[in-house]
Amino acid sequence: MARRAHPKAHKYVFVIGGVMSGVGKGIATASIGKILAARGLSVNLVKIDPYLNVDAGTMNPTEHGEVFVLDSGLETDQDMGNYERFLNRDVGAEDYMTSGMIYKHVIEKERNLEYGGKCVEAVPHVRDEIVARLRHSAKMGKSDVTVVEIGGTLGDFSNALFIDAARVIHLQDSSSTLFVMVSYLPVPGTIGEMKTKPTQIAVRQLNAYGVQPDFLIARAPTPLDHKRKEKLAVQVNIPADHIISAPDVDSVYDVPLNFERDELSDMLLKALGKRGKQASDMNAWRKFAEHAHNGRTKIKIGIVGKYFDTGDFVLSDAYLSVIEAIKFSAFHLGVKPEIHWLNAKEYQKDPARVKELENYDGILVPGGFGESGIEGKINAIRFAREKKIPYFGLCYGMQLLVVEYARNVAGLPGAHTTEIDPKAKHPIVMVLPEQVEKLRRKDYGGSMRLGAYPCKLRSGTVAQKAYGAEEVSERHRHRYEVNPIYVAKLQEAGLKFSGVSPDHTLMEIAELPKSEHPFFLGTQFHPEFRARPLEPHPLFNAFVKAAIERRG
Ligand code: GLN
Repeated sequence: MARRAHPKAHKYVFVIGGVMSGVGKGIATASIGKILAARGLSVNLVKIDPYLNVDAGTMNPTEHGEVFVLDSGLETDQDMGNYERFLNRDVGAEDYMTSGMIYKHVIEKERNLEYGGKCVEAVPHVRDEIVARLRHSAKMGKSDVTVVEIGGTLGDFSNALFIDAARVIHLQDSSSTLFVMVSYLPVPGTIGEMKTKPTQIAVRQLNAYGVQPDFLIARAPTPLDHKRKEKLAVQVNIPADHIISAPDVDSVYDVPLNFERDELSDMLLKALGKRGKQASDMNAWRKFAEHAHNGRTKIKIGIVGKYFDTGDFVLSDAYLSVIEAIKFSAFHLGVKPEIHWLNAKEYQKDPARVKELENYDGILVPGGFGESGIEGKINAIRFAREKKIPYFGLCYGMQLLVVEYARNVAGLPGAHTTEIDPKAKHPIVMVLPEQVEKLRRKDYGGSMRLGAYPCKLRSGTVAQKAYGAEEVSERHRHRYEVNPIYVAKLQEAGLKFSGVSPDHTLMEIAELPKSEHPFFLGTQFHPEFRARPLEPHPLFNAFVKAAIERRG
């Protein structure tokens, strides 16, 4: 079929991974989106996860990394966070899909007799549902180009239907689609030479689906040399200038800049038959990306959590947005963050160990669920409060801040969250009324208080000054809240609730005034989901500033 591009038609770029997982398909997708947007195109990015979970909300972060919450409340994969950070805008719920979500919908339609008595099958019905959703997301995004990341790796059983859906879209209009394969070229230690064979095999595997990649992103420990590029080009049937060398980088924010060094946006535009702005608008990004390498002074931040250990590996992915949010503020303020993982379970086993926190410039307790390590976290918060070390608590980290304050300052021993101790003498944190029935029914999927809600700020507080606003919108993911019955007592004891829901029923931010502590603040919401490279989050800025002051 001749490729003749219609400049006005909507375009799709499908990104598919070959050889192995974990080589940066998500960052490649986000970077393609970034460089096209920088040429003036309107871009939406779509993530497809092939698993059967209906959303990412029910997965343990040590298994699958962070659960990223959208404004709409949809619980998604951490790649969606990368998309928002690279594009510098919110992404829609229609930009995320899982096999579970699609199958569930198809099965519900079948139960409602919407297939007119037909036998309902994976092909065509599930595949066509995928096609329809991709079309819908392009329409909702009003974009010129939709870049779709197909999760999983070539050869997986579970992503085959998605690749087939991409093939069908290509068949409907071949001039409107491009396929980009992100592959890996290993340099085995024993050979010391870059090997292209696994990539050749992966391309053939994609060919077996009826798809020929137009571009190849060659991930590797080192740059791909000219000789190998030429050889690979012939073997995989892709012009050499469509093979982009993508060696390992220290900072993922360099990836779009590296792509542009190979003039990828020019070639994509040409292949798509799209006209973009002549000059790429990447100046602000370039400046930000350079900061990642500069920063003279170091600040030492300790994250006290529990989702770190899988076997012998430390999986920082569980807190990806938190780490990035700290980095953005640190770069913005001209310092380099040194982030340490502190296992709360250790501070539980041996409470005296919290003394090591004295060496830190800031302590952060991120979101979490359940019992393990909880007393360790509370010990760490107490230490940070008493020793006046900047402390930032996110969600669980805020609830535990309030529990600690109740126990040790407000004279309420036995204070606890009913998530852990349903019979606590002082149920300082308790289940949200709307959640009671859901928990009884074991209705756990997508049922928390999720997504963006407004929060009113009390003027003159640390939070309000940091935001410089009277009202903000932040994203949530919780089932428990500060028990309203105790609010007055906690306030009398000196804790300030500087952010509340507009109807004043939910405590959204708790803090100590600056005169009492350099920075001691917790949020019921997750500010990390709104932190962007080019727009660092005001509360993270305030926390990092306090850490810089402590460093002196
Ligand atoms: N487990 C707590 C709750 O459900 C906190 C949740 C979180 O930190 N995301 O309310």
